[in-house]
Amino acid sequence: MDNSVALVTGASKGIGQEIARQLAAAGLTVYVGSRDAARGERAAREIGSDARLLVLDVTHAASIAEAAGQVGALDILINNAGISGDGKTADREDIGTFRRIYETNVFGAVAVINAFLPALRRSAHPRIVNISSGTGSLEWAAGPQFPHRGTYAAYRSSKAALNALTVYYAHALADDGIKVNALAPGLRRTGLNAAAAASDGDPAEAAAGAVRLALLPDDGPSGEFFSWDGTPVPW
Ligand code: NAP
Repeated sequence: MDNSVALVTGASKGIGQEIARQLAAAGLTVYVGSRDAARGERAAREIGSDARLLVLDVTHAASIAEAAGQVGALDILINNAGISGDGKTADREDIGTFRRIYETNVFGAVAVINAFLPALRRSAHPRIVNISSGTGSLEWAAGPQFPHRGTYAAYRSSKAALNALTVYYAHALADDGIKVNALAPGLRRTGLNAAAAASDGDPAEAAAGAVRLALLPDDGPSGEFFSWDGTPVPW
């Protein structure tokens, strides 16, 4: 993978930084996407010389365009940037919260994919990995045993939308050889929300699942949803 180039959005910390670290360790050159230059610079420095800062706010068109203009060729795009919000059910949630979360988790991913497609089309083995969530699985959510029934509606529906887009992009980009898959990272100890912060899930374990999808062989799957350990997740 010596000449391959990857971009991880939201790589200033958490799962994204771990993905960037593991891709760099696998020999790739990695753009550490960060909306804050200082945080991103620090994250890239921690990873090492194969990591470089790319200032990128996925909710700002000008930031995305400027970042895309700096990347000539790209093999792997990891749409990791995400925000969680509160745990409210849809009937109690503010519409502004829905909009804010969708701006990052859904529209941000669409805008970044579309902006970086010209660079991905120059790759011999292009891959897109959308960092979703098992809580976005509609099949799991509809089950009677599901623990979060109705809660975190804005966040979880944003991940369900990201899942839908994973399928649509996979179909639209199949003729370009671009594989598009979604990952459920599992509950991980990060700053995403209180539940994540209190968990003992290792972010590096989730990152390894993303790296597996990023380095899929040409006969690997596309348009599918996988857990961090490689097992399929129902949509
Ligand atoms: P995190 O530690 O809070 O990291 C989120 C990252 O996204 C940060 O680097 C943050 O940057 C970045 N980000 C937020 N808004 C952005 C924007 N507008 N533009 C660019 N970057 C932005 O949380 P995490 O747990 O690592 O989350 C990573 C992904 O995993 C998310 O998509 C999340 O939904 C998903 N996930 C996490 C868990 C879990 O248990 N942790 C479970 C399921 C899914 P700043 O440093 O600037 O804030």
